[in-house]
Amino acid sequence: MKNLPLFEIENLHVEIEGKKIISGLNLSVPHGEVHALMGRNGSGKTTLSHVIMGNPQYKVTQGDIRLKGESILSLSPDERAKKRIFLAFQYPTAIPGVTVANFLRSSIRAVRGDEVPPKEVRKTIRQELEKLEIPESFMTRFLNEGFSGGEKKRLETLQLRLLNPEFAILDETDSGLDVDALKKVAERIESIRSPERSILLITHYQKMLDYIQPDQVHILMNGQIIESGDASLALKIEKQGFDWIQQEGRA
Ligand code: ADP
Ligand code: MG
Repeated sequence: MKNLPLFEIENLHVEIEGKKIISGLNLSVPHGEVHALMGRNGSGKTTLSHVIMGNPQYKVTQGDIRLKGESILSLSPDERAKKRIFLAFQYPTAIPGVTVANFLRSSIRAVRGDEVPPKEVRKTIRQELEKLEIPESFMTRFLNEGFSGGEKKRLETLQLRLLNPEFAILDETDSGLDVDALKKVAERIESIRSPERSILLITHYQKMLDYIQPDQVHILMNGQIIESGDASLALKIEKQGFDWIQQEGRA
């Protein structure tokens, strides 16, 4: 049991509206590691994160996704969340009428079950707000309405700390952060790194990887992971783009 990776994808094939997006993808993330997933726009990074969460729009035609050796493919998105898999949405939508506080309480209950006393939930939220230096007034604002990029990220971090997922997918592509905000996000991600948690960080910002040291970097191209390596792979992508991979005949 101990030797099994926490999270594993084997020969995954995915289609949407008859179009093949993922074709034969393999990935293995051991306990406690941070893996970065990079790839051109449109290569299927966001698709992969939705498939992992069980979004029914995407059709898995072959392969398997396993958490601690057990297939999660037949589980609903809710059941996957209860298994402590977490996806931070790339484009969180504004939900008028729902406050940050409502949203956080219901997501905590969805993952941990109804038996957590409301008082305890409130206390945990208050403690995390303090640690993250988020003003209490944040809690009464409507979800994502008029939130700056930085505020959305702050909410994401708050969610992560409160839900304490075992496998977290962070889709950071196109999130439009300036360098200072990027640095703050990276610091927060570092702060949730733990031997009990694995993180799949989707990014095309090499800059982010200046502040987070991934254990492995994977490149997604043509529906597969065609190259994996240490942090130096991300540097190579920054300097040379993605073309050399194709030129070397790997894709
Ligand atoms: P990335 O996140 O790497 O930029 P995406 O996963 O968003 O890439 O997109 C991969 C491909 O899948 C694109 O060609 C995109 O147009 C297509 N795609 C993704 N989601 C949908 C959808 N809901 N309907 C139709 N096509 C989609
Ligand atoms: Mg994307």
